[in-house]
Amino acid sequence: MKILVTNDDGISAEGLWILAKELRKIAQVVVVAPDREQSATGTAVTLHQPLRIQRITPSVPEVETYSVEGTPADSVILALDKLVKNKIDLVVSGINQGPNLGDDVFISGTVGAALQGYLHGLPTLAISIDAMDRLYLNNAAKLAVLLAKKIDSNILPPNIFLNVNLPSIPLAKIRGIKITRLARKSHSDTVDERYDGKRKYYWLVRHKVNKATDSKTDIWAIEQGNISITPLLTNWLNKPSPSITDSLCSELFQELLRA
Ligand code: MN
Repeated sequence: MKILVTNDDGISAEGLWILAKELRKIAQVVVVAPDREQSATGTAVTLHQPLRIQRITPSVPEVETYSVEGTPADSVILALDKLVKNKIDLVVSGINQGPNLGDDVFISGTVGAALQGYLHGLPTLAISIDAMDRLYLNNAAKLAVLLAKKIDSNILPPNIFLNVNLPSIPLAKIRGIKITRLARKSHSDTVDERYDGKRKYYWLVRHKVNKATDSKTDIWAIEQGNISITPLLTNWLNKPSPSITDSLCSELFQELLRA
């Protein structure tokens, strides 16, 4: 199996390398990621300036690695159309340090990168943890490995596009894995007016909205201490998803507890 790993936190992010290191145990891994933080760049692609790349010495041995002066989506397009010679079997974007829940997926660079995998006809995972710290990144990396194995053995279909979020708590405290849909709202944005000494400028500020009330949503699942898996494109198109079942989620959770 050959896996493309990317992210939106940039090539130096810890979540990227913990993910690459775990996936390397079961597959060939290529890392192509933005050269700097590109969080909240969504699905943006660069059409009006050159895309420069650099071959990088990887933090994990035997992982072919490139950094891209571009967006997360640019990185995946470059990887799939130019940089990676043999066929990619799976695209994994993450591990994002911070949640990608509810309507935030529309501005998420993590999900924007994953979308390109899906548009290229590949099974795709976006994976995030609900905190900026590094404490429980390993849980997410192990779950990514389990999902990759399910894809490799055709237990999951080849057209899946899953948005996975984990609560940042010890594995023993996680209650289970829920299949969810996107909550309607995760943040509200306000604009601060500030002054730099010469002129006025503006700064966007994000506020978490009130707790989720709908028990079918991703935000509710995370607040209750569950892992949330949202099948994404079916979600956007308001179609039921046949791609992942409750019984598979219970099986995955048992495997994760043993991993
Ligand atoms: Mn990010």
